[in-house]
Amino acid sequence: MDRFQFHNPTKLIFGKDQLKALKQEIPRYGSKVLLVYGGGSIKRSGLYEKVTAILKEIGAEVTELAGVEPNPRLSTVHRGVDLCKANGIQLVLAVGGGSVLDCAKAIAVGAKYDGDMWDFAERKAAPKDALPLGTVLTMAATGSEMNGSSVISNEETKEKLGWGSKLAYPAFSILEPENTVSLPKDQTVYGLVDIMSHVFEHYFHKETNTLVQDGFCETVLRTVIETAPKLIADLENTEYRETILYCGTMALNGVLNMGLSGDWATHNIEHAVSAVYDIPHGGGLAILFPNWMKHVMHHDVARFKRMAINVFDVNPEGKSDREIAEEGVKALRSFWNSIGAPSRLADYKIDDSSLEFMADKAVRFGSFGNFAQLDKQDVLNIYRNSL
Ligand code: NAP
Ligand code: FE
Repeated sequence: MDRFQFHNPTKLIFGKDQLKALKQEIPRYGSKVLLVYGGGSIKRSGLYEKVTAILKEIGAEVTELAGVEPNPRLSTVHRGVDLCKANGIQLVLAVGGGSVLDCAKAIAVGAKYDGDMWDFAERKAAPKDALPLGTVLTMAATGSEMNGSSVISNEETKEKLGWGSKLAYPAFSILEPENTVSLPKDQTVYGLVDIMSHVFEHYFHKETNTLVQDGFCETVLRTVIETAPKLIADLENTEYRETILYCGTMALNGVLNMGLSGDWATHNIEHAVSAVYDIPHGGGLAILFPNWMKHVMHHDVARFKRMAINVFDVNPEGKSDREIAEEGVKALRSFWNSIGAPSRLADYKIDDSSLEFMADKAVRFGSFGNFAQLDKQDVLNIYRNSL
């Protein structure tokens, strides 16, 4: 395994009836709160009322930023930064899914920066200070609740860039499975795909002596595979929701990937698609990941064989390593199909007209991917095979 340091400062507050922890957590940071949320799901579910009642009870002075888009936009980040600066905000409180959390992270660093927060996404500058951030998560997917990453879309340049900072970890995150039961089936599926994809980004690595890490990854993958069909058939089941919520956080809070370099090529390729077509991140990953796997399998057939046997129970008898590995990728595709995930870009009416543009965006910082380095031609091949 590679050398590593592990330090995750987020206080995770997990389980039933934990929202009340806001009463203790918020006053640690101040009374002027920017409440950030999305397009209205928290109003429909009743969570907005519960959160604002607590904010009132503790005497917080609340400014609201509503309407954060799925694939959050830079212009919305700018609105949030302006609100923080104009109102002397002391804490950003994000209530929603990964998009709301990612937007709130960008606001938290942008509020303490004189330039444009986009500088951080473009690697022109690094955050030196940030407002504290608290989150109440409403869907299992991104892991944003316990990591320092965020993904922002610039609608003017049609770019979607991930950025990260130690300063962007939430100070606390409240995860109640009950707050995720209102998530509709399609978004639940996108979340499941995103969670598995985060684990795959760790699992396809080039390190040696990683028995524990590989085993942890396989356990999370097998748990999602076992739970997902039950959850899809019973969306309001809080036990299944709880399992998936925990998987989502574990998949990207730094625990599974201690000592692993991580690949992250497929996320990069997907961001270029959702920047242009504004499709759900998990939907894009479901289309692209199996095609990335086929494209890079020859780099380490043994690792794909391991996934096939340990994650998808492929019977290895009488088959070559390559056949076993290919069967694993097929099993992944059929599993995602079985829960209703998309499998072709055509499912989102995406044709070949922007492939060059998207591939250029994907390689804007040069070739990428740690398990297998990809250049523009590789990206184009993966896009073409995904049409
Ligand atoms: P999302 O974009 O936050 O939410 C998707 C939709 O689900 C929204 O329409 C939202 O509605 C709705 N929703 C959320 N919770 C709900 C609930 N409990 N009941 C009903 N509807 C609910 O989805 P996400 O997958 O969590 O986030 C995707 C973004 O995160 C993408 O931009 C992706 O690139 C990024 N991402 C970030 C990381 C990271 O580490 N930071 C990792 C991977 C991906 P409302 O808007 O009305 O609330
Ligand atoms: Fe993701």
